[in-house]
Amino acid sequence: MLIRKAYKYRLKTKPLHEVKLRQAVGCSRYVWNKALARQKDRLDNNQPCLSYNELAGLLVQWKEDEDTFFLGEVHSQPLPQTLKALHRAIHDAFDEISPVRFPGFKRKGVHDSFRYPQGFLINDDVIYLPKIGWVPFHKSREIEGIPKNVTVSRQEAHWDIAIQVEIECEDPVHPSKEETAIDLGITQLATLSDGTFYKPLNSFKTLESALARSQRDLSCKVKFSKNWHQQKSKVNKLHTCIAAARNDYLHKISTTINKNHVLIVFEDLKVANMSGLVRGTKEQPGRQMTQKSGLNKAILEQGWGEFRRMLEYKQLWREGLVVVVPPQYTSQTCPQCGHVHKDNRKTQSGFKCIRCHYMANADHVGARNILAAGYAVLACAEVGAVNPLDEAGIRKDAA
Ligand SMILES: [Zn+2]
Repeated sequence: MLIRKAYKYRLKTKPLHEVKLRQAVGCSRYVWNKALARQKDRLDNNQPCLSYNELAGLLVQWKEDEDTFFLGEVHSQPLPQTLKALHRAIHDAFDEISPVRFPGFKRKGVHDSFRYPQGFLINDDVIYLPKIGWVPFHKSREIEGIPKNVTVSRQEAHWDIAIQVEIECEDPVHPSKEETAIDLGITQLATLSDGTFYKPLNSFKTLESALARSQRDLSCKVKFSKNWHQQKSKVNKLHTCIAAARNDYLHKISTTINKNHVLIVFEDLKVANMSGLVRGTKEQPGRQMTQKSGLNKAILEQGWGEFRRMLEYKQLWREGLVVVVPPQYTSQTCPQCGHVHKDNRKTQSGFKCIRCHYMANADHVGARNILAAGYAVLACAEVGAVNPLDEAGIRKDAA
């Protein structure tokens, strides 16, 4: 497994280094802005952007021009790197799936940097930067792996280097021996078999009410009018914002659960049952439903699916195991006496066994039953029926 990481250190520069560094960073900024202006011009005139090779050709020309001959005084590598970065930034801005902001002009002193893809040398705590010379740096920790490139950047009065390395390392061994099962739900997004729970997905209330408000405003505007377009973009921004917050939340908790458990048991996604709960019945409406139920339902289902997907691939990374069990009776079985009855769970949140009167939080009971079902599946797999893992739905997606 190959991983990339970067080490950042502060350079111990002398005045002469600084003159050269300022020159390099200035030329890099100049080339970025000049090439960006050219590309913008073309876009404004409905012409396609220049390719990287065409940009590199322009750079050769610029170095010969009387007005810009100073570009030739900088080492040959950083400037093409700048053009590459610009090319990529424009490309990413036109990405169909997740476009980023179109790159802007660089200002002096703001994110000033340039990069060497090669030609540098590192000797303990001194680095050779072509055309700058040997510069000592504060080596706060050892560098592991093979250095691939160096980026020099200015931080106020200081100069930093970021050395990107590649490290070949062994496949990971899962850091935990704990096992758990997860009950996905409405009152809580997830309840673990040890009783830990994670707040529900619809807990971004402030953002959501802001969204509802701006959607109401939108419906009052004349469609496709200037005001409507303005309002529409507000609505879109809020949608993006909510999606980012939810995604961030799902990532945080899936990583926590993944790191702390080598085995995770799930129920096979019971989306149909779940939406039943959201909807409730005529006599006894579900708690979260009412007028927004359609939207809520879609969001919840999407969230559960996404959460499971994250946990599955993160387990795979860390060589953990995911077991999927059938969803039957996990919410109706008494963990104390084993009695199965639908009346054991009469409400959304409360479990009360009608035989032994055991009482507990329903989601917690669900998670404990799911864990037991997971062990049953694993035990059955160890006995060694014909490919029982597949039949039982075990998802150990061997790499
Ligand atoms: Zn019981």
